[in-house]
Amino acid sequence: MGEQELIKEAFEELLTVLRKDTTEEEKQRIRQAFEFANEAHKGIKRRSGEPYILHPIAVARIAAKEIGLGTKSVIAALLHDVVEDTDYTLEEIGEIFGAKIASLVDGLTKIREIMGGDTSLQAESFRKMILTLADDVRVILIKIADRLHNMRTLASMPEHKQVKIASETLYIFAPLAHRMGLHAIKTELEDLSLKYEHPEEYKVIAQKIEAYHREYTGLFDKFIAPIRESLDKNGYEYTITARTKSVYSVWYKMQRRNISFDEIYDLLAVRIVFKPTPSQPEKWQCWNIYSLITDLYSPNPERLRDWVSVPKANGYEALHLTVMGPSGQWFEVQIRSERMDEIAEKGLAAHWKYKAENGEGNSELDNWLAGIKELLEQPNSNALAFLDEFKLNLYAKEIRVFTPRGHMKTLPKGATALDFAYDIHTEIGNTCIGAKVNHKLVAMSHKLQSGDQVEILTSEKQHPQEEWFDFVITAKARSHIDDYFKKNRREAIKRGERIFEKIVKDLKLSLTAELMRKILTALKLQNKEELYLKLCLGTITQEELAKELKKRMENWFAKYWRLQFFKNEREEREKEEYKDEENADVVISSCCNPIPGDDVVGMDIEGKVQIHKRKCPEAIRLLASYGNKIVPIAWENYHITSFVAVILVRGIDRMGVVNEITKIISGEVGINMKMIHFETKDGIFEGVIQLCVHNTRDVNSLITKISGVKGVENTMRG
Ligand code: MN
Repeated sequence: MGEQELIKEAFEELLTVLRKDTTEEEKQRIRQAFEFANEAHKGIKRRSGEPYILHPIAVARIAAKEIGLGTKSVIAALLHDVVEDTDYTLEEIGEIFGAKIASLVDGLTKIREIMGGDTSLQAESFRKMILTLADDVRVILIKIADRLHNMRTLASMPEHKQVKIASETLYIFAPLAHRMGLHAIKTELEDLSLKYEHPEEYKVIAQKIEAYHREYTGLFDKFIAPIRESLDKNGYEYTITARTKSVYSVWYKMQRRNISFDEIYDLLAVRIVFKPTPSQPEKWQCWNIYSLITDLYSPNPERLRDWVSVPKANGYEALHLTVMGPSGQWFEVQIRSERMDEIAEKGLAAHWKYKAENGEGNSELDNWLAGIKELLEQPNSNALAFLDEFKLNLYAKEIRVFTPRGHMKTLPKGATALDFAYDIHTEIGNTCIGAKVNHKLVAMSHKLQSGDQVEILTSEKQHPQEEWFDFVITAKARSHIDDYFKKNRREAIKRGERIFEKIVKDLKLSLTAELMRKILTALKLQNKEELYLKLCLGTITQEELAKELKKRMENWFAKYWRLQFFKNEREEREKEEYKDEENADVVISSCCNPIPGDDVVGMDIEGKVQIHKRKCPEAIRLLASYGNKIVPIAWENYHITSFVAVILVRGIDRMGVVNEITKIISGEVGINMKMIHFETKDGIFEGVIQLCVHNTRDVNSLITKISGVKGVENTMRG
């Protein structure tokens, strides 16, 4: 078949699906529009290789057949790409087809410009776009038809465009179709979007639905047989169909509820569409059918949905009930009249059509238009649930840019070349010196636009600078730059720690967490890291620290022991003083050098407590002369002497997990790590940690803390 025959055939086919009330004169004008468009697009091919004109014909067909639009819309659909793609102007279209058609085409052309995605206009112009559309709601409906055909033929587009178009469809057009009550189209748009955005998941779910459908077809027949019998007996004209949930709605439910396919129970619904008899109101007939069904099967009262008395916001009317089937399976049953069914499938246009038949046509459509326009002009009103605002913002705030090899990256609007660099790889970000955007050299602070192709220039000598924070906007880039600075800080801290350890060693001190706390308080520091950092930087000198440490050491004898001062009943004041170890001035006497565990005695000499072994001759001498100055003391276990415990850790390997675990251990009071060994295989790590602890409470508390680390699956005593 020649190209022109193919085109002719497609057009003749369009004529057969026009609304029944289309007059001969209107058909003539449609033919004129077709011939005009055919001439304008002559010789131009779609990506798939077929003549371009087949696209506007298909869009007109969807507008007429699937949405139920009339002559003006069909003409506008045929002409919708003429102004954008050919030399014809809007004025010419206005002269030939009239002002109304021209304004519809104008609206469609404007949306296409905005949806082109290569301007920075997107965000603010989106509302303007809708306002433009609202001149006539038919613009939105034709645009939906246009998008539906593009989605149906998306396979011939390059992959990066497929994903962009698919996500745009999901964020903008499917909600729009839903709002317009175009249920079938909304479902198809969603399914097609999913198919291109998540092809694997789409395939798996589609196959499972298919299998489910096959499995329950027999059950379905058994379920509806008595219903048919009852409806026949009561003289109803009707059709009954089994409807399975759409692939997208199954996928969405699985995502939202975090459940598996097998946990979805409302996969199968039975739809009864009846031809209403003029003698009774439709609502009454719906409830009558409800009554006939519940005579046969028990309903679940929790799952009754009455959209007959109060239609949904998008005009949907139906009665839904769920009943227990013959083999203990729940069935959802939807009851609709033919009119309700058409409104559900075709939405707004069908609604208008039914009103028109009752002679209220144009005024009703006008009301709709006025209503929608009013909503759009008050974008803050709650009634403007026209588009899901969150999704809209998400879309408007994103740009899509490309690597030199054509891979698409999605970044927030306002992202710079440096954000892009970090999005590719941390090292590329860390060494970025500039970029080429669309082959032109730009600074790394250059703001990217949708559609830009970006090549990052790097240098080994480069490293992150403080001012980079001023021009990155993505969290990813920020955290990588932050990490770099932190890592450098970490090295300074490590050096400071080594200095600290040397001072402590030189003073022959044994360091406890409590002593550390006192040092930090005395030097007015937040934590160890700050101390180490300041030591490394010299903000705190080694002499200062040594002095501070020496001041404390007199009160501290050993790591796990301290002196206990017993109550002196005669002198309450002294008791108070001595109890406060911070203030107690204690001197270990050099004559007998008592160590923890020795039997000791204290002598209060001029406000200082001298500690002697009980057997020390000097002590005996002093006891004889200064009996009244005796301070009863004893060594007390401060912590039980340490023992070795082993902890086994297992989990999913990720960056920094070992670091986090060691950090927890080193933060514990009185726990010392003896040995740590980690091994990673196939993304799973296993660690053995040997610790010196004082009691089982220490170990248990540590296990609880380590279990809380992200990625750790299992922690136990070895
Ligand atoms: Mn188009």
